[in-house]
Amino acid sequence: MRRNRIVILGAGYGGLRALKKLQDLHLNAELILINRNDYHCETTLLHEVAAGTTEAEGICYPIEYVIDKKQTVFIKDAVLAVNQNAKTVILEQHEPVNYDYLLIALGFESESFGIEGIREFGLSISDIPSVERIRRHVELQLAAWHEDDCDEHLTVVVGGAGFTSFEFLGELTNHLPKLAKRHHIDQKKIRVVCIEPTPHVLPMFDRKLAEYGSRKLESRGVEFVVGRVNRIAPGHVYYKNGEDLNVIHAGTFIWTGGVRGSSVIEDSGFLQRRGRVRVNTDLTVPGAREIMIIGDCSEVIDPENGRPFPTTAQIAMQQADCAAYNLNARVTGQPLKPFAYKCMGTVCSLGKNDAMGQLLGKNIKGYPASIMKKVIENRSLVKIGGVETMLKKGRFDFSR
Ligand code: FAD
Repeated sequence: MRRNRIVILGAGYGGLRALKKLQDLHLNAELILINRNDYHCETTLLHEVAAGTTEAEGICYPIEYVIDKKQTVFIKDAVLAVNQNAKTVILEQHEPVNYDYLLIALGFESESFGIEGIREFGLSISDIPSVERIRRHVELQLAAWHEDDCDEHLTVVVGGAGFTSFEFLGELTNHLPKLAKRHHIDQKKIRVVCIEPTPHVLPMFDRKLAEYGSRKLESRGVEFVVGRVNRIAPGHVYYKNGEDLNVIHAGTFIWTGGVRGSSVIEDSGFLQRRGRVRVNTDLTVPGAREIMIIGDCSEVIDPENGRPFPTTAQIAMQQADCAAYNLNARVTGQPLKPFAYKCMGTVCSLGKNDAMGQLLGKNIKGYPASIMKKVIENRSLVKIGGVETMLKKGRFDFSR
C-alpha cells in the first residue's frame, strides 16, 4: 500500500518543531521538508545581527541537525505557490511536489501598508540577508560622514515602537559607543529616532513596563517622536503629526511598523487577510482539511477576547505540537484535537543585560529579565534542535 506523504513548508519555529515531533512519532508516512535555506534561523534574534552585536552564524544552525534522513527528505528551494486542486507545491527550481497532507509554516514578511518609498528606500528586520543589509548600511553611512560631513549619515530612524523596534533599539544603543569609536565619530553626534503614531509604545505590555522600556532607551539617547510615517525618500523620512507634514533628514530608515504572513498564501488562492488564514480550531484550512497552517501565516482567535492572538515563535511552536499530533491522527484515522494556547509570557530584550516582560503573570525587568530571555532562547533551541544544538548554539554568558 502507498504510504501517505506529508509535506512541510518552512523550517522556522513552527515547521521544524513539527517535523521533529513527527519524526519522534515514527509514523508510517513519507516526510518532505521544503525550505528556502539549508539553515534554521532564530528569527527572534535577528535584531542582534542588524545592530552588529552578533554574527549571522550565531543565530543559525544547519537544518540537518534536526533531520532524520531515514524518515525525511529535505528539499532546499523557494516555494512559489500551492496548487490546491492538483495537491502540489510549486517550487522555483525543482519539479512540483505532490502531497497527501500539507503543513504550511512559511512565516512573515515586512508589511509596508502601501507607504510610499518603504520598499525602495527602507530596511526591514525579516531574515538574514535583510539584517546583514542593515548592519552594512549603518557602517557605510558612518564611513560616508567623513567624506562629506553631512549629518544625515549619522541619523538612524526606526518606524514603529513595538517589540522588534525596542529589541533593535536596545541592541543598537548598547553597541553605539563601539561603533562610534571604530569610525572615529563623537557618539553625541549620532542621532537615533523612533517614530510611532501614538504615545503608547509597546502595546502588548502594561503601561509601567512599557514606560520602563522607553525610559531606558531615552537614557541611551533615543528620541521618541509621535507621528505617522508618510513617505520615505533617499535621505528623507516624512511623517505626519495631525495635518502637519514633517521631515527628518536621515541616511538610515528601518521599518518595524508591521508584518504580514508569507505572500505564498495569497499567491495560492487561500481566503486570507494580509497573508494570514483564519484556520479551524484543529489548525486545518476551512474547505481544505488536508492542509494545516501554523505560525505567522495563520490566524487563531483568542476565545477570551475574540481577537487574533499575536503572532509569535511561542505560539508557532505550540501550534507545531498540535499540528504534528493532528497529522498523525489523520494518517492513523484518529480524531483531531483542537489547538489550545497556553501563554507563558513574553520578554523583550533591551540589549545586553537588560530586558523587560511578563512571565507567568508577573512583571520582570532589568538583569533578571535578561537572564530569563536567555533561558527562553535556550529552551527553544532544545525544543527544536535538541540538547546538542542547545549546547552548540545556546546562550551561556550570564556575566554583567
Ligand atoms: P519562521 O520562524 O519565520 O520560519 C519561516 C521559514 O520559512 C523560514 O525558515 C524561511 O526561510 C522559510 N520560508 C519563508 N518563505 C519561504 C518560501 N517562499 N520558500 C521556502 N521557504 C520559505 N516571538 C516570540 O515568541 N518571542 C520573541 O521574543 C520574539 N522576538 C522577535 C524578535 C524579532 C526581531 C522578530 C523579527 C520577531 C520576533 N518574534 C518573537 C516573532 C517570531 O520570530 C515569529 O513569530 C516566528 O518566527 C514565526 O514562526 P514561523 O514558524 O511562522 O516562521
